[in-house]
Amino acid sequence: MKSAIYPGTFDPMTYGHLDIIKRAANIFDEVVVSVLNNKEKTPLFSVSERVNILKEATKDIPNVRVESFEGLLTDYCKKIGVNVVVRGLRAVTDFEYELQMSQMNRKLSNHRVETIYFNTTLKYSYLSSSAVKQIAQFHGDLSAFVPDFVAKLLYERFGYKE
Ligand code: ADP
Repeated sequence: MKSAIYPGTFDPMTYGHLDIIKRAANIFDEVVVSVLNNKEKTPLFSVSERVNILKEATKDIPNVRVESFEGLLTDYCKKIGVNVVVRGLRAVTDFEYELQMSQMNRKLSNHRVETIYFNTTLKYSYLSSSAVKQIAQFHGDLSAFVPDFVAKLLYERFGYKE
Protein backbone atom coordinates (compact mmCIF):
# COMPACT_ATOMS: atom_id res chain seq x y z
CA MET A 1 0.00 0.00 0.00
CA LYS A 2 1.39 3.40 -1.00
CA SER A 3 0.72 6.17 1.49
CA ALA A 4 1.61 9.85 1.52
CA ILE A 5 1.65 12.56 4.17
CA TYR A 6 0.32 16.01 3.40
CA PRO A 7 1.67 18.19 6.22
CA GLY A 8 0.83 21.85 6.75
CA THR A 9 -0.40 24.56 9.03
CA PHE A 10 -3.95 24.56 7.60
CA ASP A 11 -4.97 27.67 9.57
CA PRO A 12 -7.62 27.18 8.27
CA MET A 13 -7.98 24.68 5.43
CA THR A 14 -8.99 26.32 2.14
CA TYR A 15 -10.34 24.96 -1.16
CA GLY A 16 -6.71 25.12 -2.37
CA HIS A 17 -5.70 22.57 0.29
CA LEU A 18 -8.80 20.46 -0.35
CA ASP A 19 -7.99 20.32 -4.06
CA ILE A 20 -4.50 18.97 -3.31
CA ILE A 21 -5.96 16.42 -0.85
CA LYS A 22 -8.44 15.12 -3.43
CA ARG A 23 -5.84 14.88 -6.19
CA ALA A 24 -3.39 13.10 -3.87
CA ALA A 25 -6.13 10.71 -2.76
CA ASN A 26 -6.66 9.76 -6.42
CA ILE A 27 -3.03 8.71 -6.73
CA PHE A 28 -2.13 7.24 -3.36
CA ASP A 29 -3.87 4.40 -1.52
CA GLU A 30 -3.89 6.50 1.63
CA VAL A 31 -3.28 10.19 2.36
CA VAL A 32 -2.49 11.27 5.90
CA VAL A 33 -3.25 14.97 6.21
CA SER A 34 -1.35 16.17 9.23
CA VAL A 35 -1.58 19.49 11.04
CA LEU A 36 1.78 20.74 12.24
CA ASN A 37 1.73 21.95 15.81
CA ASN A 38 4.25 24.75 15.24
CA LYS A 39 5.09 26.55 18.46
CA GLU A 40 6.71 29.40 16.51
CA LYS A 41 3.46 30.42 14.85
CA THR A 42 0.43 31.94 16.54
CA PRO A 43 -2.48 30.32 14.74
CA LEU A 44 -6.06 31.56 14.66
CA PHE A 45 -7.39 28.03 15.22
CA SER A 46 -6.04 25.48 17.69
CA VAL A 47 -4.57 22.22 16.42
CA SER A 48 -7.72 20.30 17.36
CA GLU A 49 -9.95 22.88 15.65
CA ARG A 50 -7.84 22.64 12.49
CA VAL A 51 -7.93 18.83 12.63
CA ASN A 52 -11.73 18.89 13.06
CA ILE A 53 -12.16 21.24 10.08
CA LEU A 54 -10.07 18.91 7.90
CA LYS A 55 -11.96 15.85 9.17
CA GLU A 56 -15.31 17.41 8.36
CA ALA A 57 -14.20 18.58 4.89
CA THR A 58 -12.74 15.16 3.97
CA LYS A 59 -15.35 12.92 5.61
CA ASP A 60 -16.52 11.59 2.22
CA ILE A 61 -13.03 10.65 1.02
CA PRO A 62 -12.44 7.18 2.48
CA ASN A 63 -8.68 6.99 1.97
CA VAL A 64 -7.92 10.26 3.80
CA ARG A 65 -6.93 10.29 7.47
CA VAL A 66 -6.37 13.44 9.51
CA GLU A 67 -3.82 13.69 12.31
CA SER A 68 -1.50 16.21 13.90
CA PHE A 69 2.19 16.12 14.75
CA GLU A 70 4.94 18.17 16.27
CA GLY A 71 8.68 18.11 15.87
CA LEU A 72 10.57 17.02 12.78
CA LEU A 73 8.56 15.87 9.79
CA THR A 74 11.13 13.14 9.09
CA ASP A 75 10.69 11.72 12.61
CA TYR A 76 6.94 11.69 12.12
CA CYS A 77 7.35 9.98 8.71
CA LYS A 78 9.42 7.28 10.37
CA LYS A 79 6.96 6.88 13.22
CA ILE A 80 4.00 6.24 10.95
CA GLY A 81 6.01 4.42 8.28
CA VAL A 82 5.35 6.77 5.36
CA ASN A 83 8.13 8.15 3.15
CA VAL A 84 6.31 10.28 0.61
CA VAL A 85 5.44 13.88 1.45
CA VAL A 86 2.92 15.81 -0.62
CA ARG A 87 3.04 19.60 -0.89
CA GLY A 88 1.38 22.16 -3.12
CA LEU A 89 3.08 24.76 -5.27
CA ARG A 90 1.23 27.95 -6.07
CA ALA A 91 3.86 30.20 -7.60
CA VAL A 92 7.63 30.59 -7.85
CA THR A 93 7.51 32.31 -4.47
CA ASP A 94 6.67 28.92 -2.88
CA PHE A 95 9.47 27.19 -4.75
CA GLU A 96 12.59 28.26 -2.89
CA TYR A 97 11.22 27.43 0.54
CA GLU A 98 9.77 24.12 -0.62
CA LEU A 99 12.98 23.08 -2.38
CA GLN A 100 15.05 23.83 0.72
CA MET A 101 12.68 21.88 2.92
CA SER A 102 12.54 18.84 0.66
CA GLN A 103 16.37 18.71 0.33
CA MET A 104 16.68 18.97 4.10
CA ASN A 105 14.11 16.23 4.69
CA ARG A 106 15.86 13.95 2.23
CA LYS A 107 19.14 14.50 4.03
CA LEU A 108 17.66 14.05 7.52
CA SER A 109 15.98 10.80 6.47
CA ASN A 110 19.05 9.29 4.77
CA HIS A 111 17.37 9.81 1.40
CA ARG A 112 14.28 7.87 2.38
CA VAL A 113 11.72 10.69 2.40
CA GLU A 114 10.78 12.10 -1.01
CA THR A 115 8.58 15.15 -1.57
CA ILE A 116 6.08 15.25 -4.40
CA TYR A 117 4.55 18.52 -5.53
CA PHE A 118 1.12 19.17 -6.91
CA ASN A 119 0.82 22.36 -8.88
CA THR A 120 -2.11 24.46 -7.87
CA THR A 121 -5.34 24.45 -9.78
CA LEU A 122 -5.27 27.81 -11.55
CA LYS A 123 -8.37 29.17 -9.83
CA TYR A 124 -6.75 28.62 -6.43
CA SER A 125 -3.29 29.90 -7.36
CA TYR A 126 -3.74 33.12 -5.39
CA LEU A 127 -5.51 31.49 -2.45
CA SER A 128 -3.87 31.25 0.97
CA SER A 129 -5.01 30.80 4.56
CA SER A 130 -3.65 34.24 5.43
CA ALA A 131 -5.64 35.95 2.66
CA VAL A 132 -8.75 34.13 3.86
CA LYS A 133 -8.16 35.38 7.42
CA GLN A 134 -7.74 38.96 6.19
CA ILE A 135 -11.00 38.79 4.25
CA ALA A 136 -12.82 37.24 7.23
CA GLN A 137 -11.59 40.01 9.51
CA PHE A 138 -13.62 42.48 7.40
CA HIS A 139 -16.55 40.12 6.90
CA GLY A 140 -15.82 39.76 3.18
CA ASP A 141 -17.28 37.08 0.93
CA LEU A 142 -15.47 33.77 1.49
CA SER A 143 -17.73 31.51 -0.55
CA ALA A 144 -15.16 30.89 -3.32
CA PHE A 145 -12.36 30.11 -0.90
CA VAL A 146 -13.53 27.89 1.97
CA PRO A 147 -16.55 25.65 2.68
CA ASP A 148 -19.49 27.45 4.34
CA PHE A 149 -18.92 25.85 7.75
CA VAL A 150 -15.32 27.15 7.75
CA ALA A 151 -16.48 30.65 6.76
CA LYS A 152 -18.90 30.56 9.68
CA LEU A 153 -16.12 29.60 12.11
CA LEU A 154 -13.91 32.37 10.72
CA TYR A 155 -16.59 35.05 11.07
CA GLU A 156 -17.31 33.88 14.62
CA ARG A 157 -13.62 34.06 15.48
CA PHE A 158 -13.57 37.69 14.33
CA GLY A 159 -16.64 38.53 16.39
CA TYR A 160 -19.34 38.51 13.71
CA LYS A 161 -22.61 36.84 14.54
CA GLU A 162 -24.25 35.13 11.58
P1 ADP B 1 2.76 25.62 5.65
O1 ADP B 1 2.90 26.59 6.79
O2 ADP B 1 3.33 24.26 5.95
O3 ADP B 1 3.22 26.15 4.31
P2 ADP B 1 0.03 25.85 4.67
O4 ADP B 1 -1.21 25.39 5.34
O5 ADP B 1 0.17 27.30 4.37
O6 ADP B 1 1.19 25.31 5.58
O7 ADP B 1 0.22 25.06 3.30
C1 ADP B 1 0.35 23.66 3.26
C2 ADP B 1 0.71 23.25 1.84
O8 ADP B 1 -0.39 23.52 0.97
C3 ADP B 1 1.91 23.99 1.24
O9 ADP B 1 2.64 23.07 0.43
C4 ADP B 1 1.27 25.05 0.38
O10 ADP B 1 2.12 25.43 -0.69
C5 ADP B 1 0.04 24.32 -0.12
N1 ADP B 1 -1.03 25.23 -0.49
C6 ADP B 1 -1.61 26.20 0.25
N2 ADP B 1 -2.57 26.84 -0.44
C7 ADP B 1 -2.58 26.28 -1.68
C8 ADP B 1 -3.32 26.53 -2.89
N3 ADP B 1 -4.21 27.51 -2.96
N4 ADP B 1 -3.05 25.74 -3.96
C9 ADP B 1 -2.11 24.78 -3.88
N5 ADP B 1 -1.37 24.52 -2.80
C10 ADP B 1 -1.60 25.24 -1.70
